[in-house]
Amino acid sequence: MRRTSTLLAFAATLLLPLSAAQAQKTFLHCGRLLDVRSGRLLSEQTITVEKGRITAVQAGYQGAATAADKVVDLKNRTVLPGLIDCHVHVEGETSKDNFLKEFTQNPADVAYESLSHVRITLLAGFTTVRDLGGSGINVSLRNAIARGQVVGPRIITAGKAISGTGGHMDPTNGYRQDLMGVPGPADGVINSPDQGRQAVREQYKRGADLIKIASTGGVLSVAKDGSAPQMTEEEIRAVVETARDLGLSVACHAHGAEGMKRAVRAGVTSIEHGTLMDDETMKLMRKMGTWYVPTITAGKSVADSAKIKNYYPPLVTPKALAIGPKLQGTFARAYKAGVKIAFGTDAAVFRHGVNALEFRYMVEAGMPPLEAIQAATTSAAELLGRTADLGALEAGKLADVIAVEGNPLQDINVLQQVRFVMKDGVVYKQE
Ligand SMILES: [Zn+2]
Repeated sequence: MRRTSTLLAFAATLLLPLSAAQAQKTFLHCGRLLDVRSGRLLSEQTITVEKGRITAVQAGYQGAATAADKVVDLKNRTVLPGLIDCHVHVEGETSKDNFLKEFTQNPADVAYESLSHVRITLLAGFTTVRDLGGSGINVSLRNAIARGQVVGPRIITAGKAISGTGGHMDPTNGYRQDLMGVPGPADGVINSPDQGRQAVREQYKRGADLIKIASTGGVLSVAKDGSAPQMTEEEIRAVVETARDLGLSVACHAHGAEGMKRAVRAGVTSIEHGTLMDDETMKLMRKMGTWYVPTITAGKSVADSAKIKNYYPPLVTPKALAIGPKLQGTFARAYKAGVKIAFGTDAAVFRHGVNALEFRYMVEAGMPPLEAIQAATTSAAELLGRTADLGALEAGKLADVIAVEGNPLQDINVLQQVRFVMKDGVVYKQE
């Protein structure tokens, strides 16, 4: 174990940012700055950054007071808050041999692979991600990034996700029977409200920041059904109450309406995917204040991958073809119905780093560009319970800043080409 972690630390040092040494104050000279609350584009602004936080946003170009201070020229850029993706999986990434990898990869292999996932995500302008489930390496990766040993976004992680036996989060689905064993609450598999409580406490103990459950089947689990309920309402309620006691929110994966309604009534914080969401569910979500995280990009990409012969195991292909293409339409209806929406992609189901494609799909489906940007900034910060630190360019907030060429309110696709990335006051990219 010790040898593994030394190797990891060594690998990580090779990836450290070029400008880790911080000046006293950094002045960002912004040609245009998007006020994400009002949607106004302010011209010629200066953001002052000190000790990782924004201390002022002022009109005009303010100079450096001392030689130790630093000026960053973003005069021909549009500057926005760092983006937040509320649904990623930092540990994995789609590939044809993903199922086989479960039997061939050691935890250290997963950890090394995840280094490039988080690096590319940060450089794409996503300075914070909510990781909705992996093996537990996600917790260690979060900590390594927070210590400055690995380059990546700020991670808020669910650790290992939870569902019933044979459910979407049962880690042994599709295995040969003698390899299945009997996974239990410590492995994220529960079959009673009591086991639900135990599973939540287990994740809390291991360092999870929130809880993720699956109340219905899912596309990529090697199981027959992708949308029927897989947890009882009592089980979900036990999970939500225990999580609340521990100060944790609950994100719920759901494709079918019945599983969604159970979860919404039980008080989960967000519904992920929500593919077959009906009008009654939307009404219930509005009433309960439940967030919707759509992951349209994942839907489109699983449907595309399923068309490649043998890309997925045989049980997965028909689910991907049936469920994937529906997400954009569901998003359009939920937006019209006034359901609260936070930006999330399910990156890992497609390759990391192209998360901003989701903006294009949201706008295509009828959401104005400003609201799509708010979904990934102010709204996402609200879902995360981090509005004091994240989501806007304002004095007091963490200095998470990105810049693009052109005007994202006119062409949302410019967010796919992020030219400048600062996280916690440290510059990771400047083109
Ligand atoms: Zn997911």
